[in-house]
Amino acid sequence: MKKINFKVLYIEITHFCNQSCKHCYLDCSSEKELYPMNTQEIKKIITDFKNQGGWYVVLTGGEPFARKDIFEILDCIEENNLKFNVASNCLALNEEKIKKLGAYKCLDVIHTSILGSNEEEHNYISNSKGYNNVLRCLKLFEKYNIKVYIQITLAKEYIDKMEYIVDNLSEINGTIKFTPITNLGIKKDDYLYEKLVIKEEDYSRFYDKYNKLKEKYGELIEHSNLFTYEEVNKEIEYFKDKELYSLDYRCLVVRPDGEKSFSFVLNNPVSYGSALEGIEVDMDDRLIKYIDTLREVDKEILKIAKDKGMVNYDVLMNNLIEKAYANNN
Ligand code: SF4
Repeated sequence: MKKINFKVLYIEITHFCNQSCKHCYLDCSSEKELYPMNTQEIKKIITDFKNQGGWYVVLTGGEPFARKDIFEILDCIEENNLKFNVASNCLALNEEKIKKLGAYKCLDVIHTSILGSNEEEHNYISNSKGYNNVLRCLKLFEKYNIKVYIQITLAKEYIDKMEYIVDNLSEINGTIKFTPITNLGIKKDDYLYEKLVIKEEDYSRFYDKYNKLKEKYGELIEHSNLFTYEEVNKEIEYFKDKELYSLDYRCLVVRPDGEKSFSFVLNNPVSYGSALEGIEVDMDDRLIKYIDTLREVDKEILKIAKDKGMVNYDVLMNNLIEKAYANNN
């Protein structure tokens, strides 16, 4: 049977985290297992990925640098000559580790996050004392010539501070993306839902600020998760004739326990077995049905975007896929 060959491997090497952010949709914390897969298992997945034609690894968590074997894993990626990026909240990083990171030829970019416009706001959302660590690490990334991708996971009450946040970061060598806090991570707490979640009525205010920043800073600012009708339409047009539809990105997601899927969110209804037994995915009926579901879900998102003017693409995609599979079972 025909198999998909993957170009990008996104691997969550642990859900253990030294922060416990209020919005974390993966529910990561220090309660989670640090080594759900051992070093050899992760290295085998990386080597299998390379052997089937892969070229880029996204290494994430939880907090990857909480694992003591992180540099052994990164060495394996480098030895396989795979380009990679790795995410970190910076709490477990110091100059020695950052210098080591700067020496990897295959390192593309470090992902990190800022969760507010100052120490108090960031530390409130992250339940940590991490803000000054992030700023200290940004300087070290610059010193060791490492590109950064800063995700600013934004609470509703900080929308008016978007420009201030970027003005203070505009010298970085990299990219900034604003991601609205959604109800994916904050499901059960009414107070936090009201205070933090950027809801539909806030979308145009957020989008206007994003647009102004884009005009001012250009390439420094990446597109957020909020899409207008025209932008959803453009996405659909791009994928519509491709055999694998949006899976044409050929990105395989591997969860901490080795489960393979195409989804970055929990409660994913479609799993393709364990990557520990091989990372192939057959082009079988199940996968064809999944691709059809993606097409249908996109049509529905387009309708909603037409109706409402703007949507949070990722959240809607997640919710509608879950719904489609729940209805079919
Ligand atoms: S740093 Fe990232 S993985 Fe850790 S709790 Fe926060 S959002 Fe979750």
